[in-house]
Amino acid sequence: MTAETPGGTSPHTTTRSAELFDRALTVTPGGVNSPVRAFRSVGGTPRFMVRGEGAYLWDADGNEYVDLVSSWGPMVNGHAHPDVVEAVRAAAVDGLSFGTPGVGEIDLAAEIIRRVEPVEQVRLVNSGTEATMSAVRLARGFTGRSKIVKFAGCYHGHVDSLLADAGSGVVTLGLPTSPGVTGAQAADTVVLPYNDVDAVREAFAEFGDQIACVITEAAAGNMGAVAPQPGFNAALREITRSAGALLIMDEVMTGFRVSAAGWFGLDGVAGDLYTFGKVMSGGLPAAAFGGRADVMELLAPSGPVYQAGTLAGNPVAVAAGLANLRAADDATYAALDRNAARLGELLGSALAEAGVPHRVSFAGNLVSVFFTESPVVDFEQARAQQAWRFPAFFNAFLDRGVYPPPSAFESWFVNSAMDEAAFERIADAAPHAAAAAAAAEEPAA
Ligand code: PLP
Repeated sequence: MTAETPGGTSPHTTTRSAELFDRALTVTPGGVNSPVRAFRSVGGTPRFMVRGEGAYLWDADGNEYVDLVSSWGPMVNGHAHPDVVEAVRAAAVDGLSFGTPGVGEIDLAAEIIRRVEPVEQVRLVNSGTEATMSAVRLARGFTGRSKIVKFAGCYHGHVDSLLADAGSGVVTLGLPTSPGVTGAQAADTVVLPYNDVDAVREAFAEFGDQIACVITEAAAGNMGAVAPQPGFNAALREITRSAGALLIMDEVMTGFRVSAAGWFGLDGVAGDLYTFGKVMSGGLPAAAFGGRADVMELLAPSGPVYQAGTLAGNPVAVAAGLANLRAADDATYAALDRNAARLGELLGSALAEAGVPHRVSFAGNLVSVFFTESPVVDFEQARAQQAWRFPAFFNAFLDRGVYPPPSAFESWFVNSAMDEAAFERIADAAPHAAAAAAAAEEPAA
């Protein structure tokens, strides 16, 4: 069996992945444990990956891919980095979980604090969702207020109150929000257009004394890569401070990827609270939130805001995260920036050559493609793109051994292990992908 997909022409065999997906469908909703993995918006067979090394992945049928997803962000150093694998091995032989304090937890927290200046204390959790959920609870506990402000197209995990107008899988599947979120849970969430300072000022003029926090992706990566406009984050800082609300910088995606200190390292705008995940997990389930000590001190057991976790600070996950951070040095960040620029250049020139309306968008070294000639600074503009071109574009890459994110609304993640052969493969595939995008037809309404 070969892939029959828009733009797909290759001899890739997908028999084994198809068998596994059929089996998965019988035991797991949609066959996956996170929706975008199911390839619903791009068509074709989700590839079951069995091995990763450096910049490459191999699937269950033996096909090799240049990986432009990097596990949705964590793998800045490439897959199976020897230092990370060794740290995991060393930690695992000493026991997998104790449910007691551990040495590695202090080291990981200290490394985060060392890198991100506004962070004075850190609490470790298991996922980015837990981090944002806990940070919002803490902001409410600290301020005694209930409303929160978020931006359309930003994704902060599947926290009930943060799913409204979310990016990532929510927009990939075309969902307005989610059944199961009650009106009460959504009622305290004010959703505003990203990059719109006037809208933020208006919301604060109306509800200022009820707003506990503004939560924003430090740079948006979940509607595609959309950087904050110059002055936007600084305006959020100024508005929240003067209204007595907290600013939560969600750096789950940007943290320790776009620079050693994440987006803070690029724009220097200090949040009160931060959320982290992905890179600081090394690829195991770990995440964190942190920030001002006077706010963090409100957490149990030093304060009354409850938050806990059986596996929080798990020694193996902590060892992986610390090793991943330590392996990410100046040369890594230089390589990530270089590789993102090179990828963007290859995508842009192939699409221009094929006459496809497009914008290659960057937020630091996060990259994405919007099929439009208009500027994209918010979710409405991101959604106005010709997203119907994406399935053909994606599948033409996939069939030539390049694995982009399977959604028009996700960022592409480079890693520092990408070599000349990886770029040669992308360069060979890009004209085919661009031609497939050019030939794609808009589905009838
Ligand atoms: N916040 C941002 C900015 C994210 O990109 C994500 C996930 O992609 C999350 C939060 C949620 O993290 P997790 O998937 O680990 O729950």
